[in-house]
Amino acid sequence: MKVTEHIEKANGKTLFSFEIIPPKKGKNIKELYDNINPLMEFKPPFIDVTTSREEYVYVNRDGLFDRKITRMRPGTVGICAAIKHKYNVDTVPHVLCGGFSKEETEYLLVDCHYLGIENVMALRGDAMNHQKYFEASEGGHHYACDLVGQINNLNQGKYLHDVVETDDKADFCIGVAGYPEKHIEAPSLNSDLKRLKEKVDAGADYIVTQMFFDNSKYFEFVDEAKKAGINVPIIPGIKPIAIPRHLQLLPHVFKIDIPEPLISEVEKCKNNKEVRQVGIEWCIKQSKELMEGGAPVLHYYSMGKSSNIEQIAKAIF
Ligand code: FAD
Repeated sequence: MKVTEHIEKANGKTLFSFEIIPPKKGKNIKELYDNINPLMEFKPPFIDVTTSREEYVYVNRDGLFDRKITRMRPGTVGICAAIKHKYNVDTVPHVLCGGFSKEETEYLLVDCHYLGIENVMALRGDAMNHQKYFEASEGGHHYACDLVGQINNLNQGKYLHDVVETDDKADFCIGVAGYPEKHIEAPSLNSDLKRLKEKVDAGADYIVTQMFFDNSKYFEFVDEAKKAGINVPIIPGIKPIAIPRHLQLLPHVFKIDIPEPLISEVEKCKNNKEVRQVGIEWCIKQSKELMEGGAPVLHYYSMGKSSNIEQIAKAIF
């Protein structure tokens, strides 16, 4: 079922969902299942599976280093299929512009269609580790909006180069990213909202936000998006702080602010366990408020470890 259909069916009740990261290649999938298992009792209608950018690795060949490009966490679509069938839940693979040509994207979408995956999250992806700015791959898209266009074309039976006529159209429900505190490269929140509107006009059906720790940022964003003519569901993405280093890491990586009261609570902690507890309590407070404010879904970034999400979900759902 589509994410938007799950939201409609819930009829105003806030749903629970979460995002997982594929294991590093060479690792057993069991650890992933061990993290998903405790969250299934909260009945997520869908689970997102991220896609990571390729990266350079250096291979020692008799003292000389060879630079090779590889994806360390492959398997997004395979994991989506495995989870869908193991847990009977809808899954949402993240599809990136970066690292993929349009052809490769088409093959990936065809795989998803055959596997019965009905939702995809269309994202540009970040720059690779060694790059300062995002660069499109050869034959790939520059912006998520163009990727949404390709998926939307496929939904209408239009494959690349118009080479086939089809009687079996895909019908993907398309999610895109939104940034309550604006995307790092956007000159202003307003211009970022215009770009978001372009993604919706190109065919996006719903939006999932970047994480935030101050709910007023989400509520203002939803208001501004409505004023900009964006009328699709906006799902808040949230994450509990789990280690002291998150205070520096999260603003650096995701370009978000952390509210002073949360910073001072974390700084009072004597060890990681206390920080994790502060993160859980803050996230429970955030979740309750978002629920009261009418958020359609609370979407948790699990980042591989689910015990804190489980405690939050127990308090909320
Ligand atoms: P876009 O919508 O393409 O926007 C990128 C920037 O370009 C913005 O500043 C926008 O304002 C600007 N822009 C857009 N169109 C134009 C235009 N025509 N001309 C000029 N400027 C323009 N990353 C991963 O690698 N893997 C994941 O699985 C993943 N999942 C994510 C899930 C969510 C919910 C979110 C919020 C982010 C996720 N990301 C993921 C991170 C995402 O890839 C980065 O934030 C990336 O930098 C931007 O992606 P986007 O899809 O928002 O890009």
